[in-house]
Amino acid sequence: MEVKIQAKEIHKKYKKNHVLKGIDLTIHQGEVVVLIGPSGSGKSTFLRCLNYLEEPTSGTVSIDGEQLAEDKKLNNLRKKVGMVFQHFHLFEHMTVGENIAFAPRLLRVLKTKEDINTRVEDLLAQVGLSEKKEAMPHQLSGGQKQRVAIARSLAMNPEVILFDEPTSALDPEMVGDVLDVMKQLAKEGMTMVIVTHEMGFARQVADRVVFMAEGVIVEEGTPSEIFDTPKEERTKQFLAKVL
Ligand code: ADP
Ligand code: MG
Repeated sequence: MEVKIQAKEIHKKYKKNHVLKGIDLTIHQGEVVVLIGPSGSGKSTFLRCLNYLEEPTSGTVSIDGEQLAEDKKLNNLRKKVGMVFQHFHLFEHMTVGENIAFAPRLLRVLKTKEDINTRVEDLLAQVGLSEKKEAMPHQLSGGQKQRVAIARSLAMNPEVILFDEPTSALDPEMVGDVLDVMKQLAKEGMTMVIVTHEMGFARQVADRVVFMAEGVIVEEGTPSEIFDTPKEERTKQFLAKVL
């Protein structure tokens, strides 16, 4: 399998707080990797390092074999990686359609009004929100907002999408719709790295589950290896609390 993202020996320190302590992770084309672990273990920080929203204190991240660095090329490589956050981060003063059209229009990925409009409508259909193009974000439920956020991320044709607890801020009855959209993306071959506490979803959709604690990868394996036969004591303790 082709390597899509390679993180090597990633360390991140905030002042004296040594948050990531040497993380190595390779993500292959089409792979769905689910990252689990206790709160504060560095999952979000690591995810942000993967697209240089956060610059690692040391270590390297490569996308398609090209190393990320704080220079001009960063924007090009970053375009390949979409991100979906726990709290949606929609542009509140724009309609749903404008939210989705914003980046491809600004970056001239789509040039004509017709192309942009068609793309917006296709994406809204894909996330089951065809009726909401003219709605404002505040008129949507949390689950609908998150599906708009996913559509917005897809609008740039990313090759990888990073999800940071995409369903943690949702009412329970909204979670399923968002997970269904993610399942469909996985089925279509999207490369995805997902931080989540939805263990049922992880078991169903992940190719690989990675358990992180205190800034290191403690253990990784198939969902069955991690959930049914964890090897490390730390993993067992965590799973005992969340399963
Ligand atoms: P998780 O996502 O696993 O809950 P985080 O990556 O959010 O963990 O946080 C790991 C540690 O890094 C925590 O101690 C947190 O306080 C610290 N941290 C995260 N982001 C920042 C930041 N921007 N500035 C300072 N400390 C941070
Ligand atoms: Mg987090």
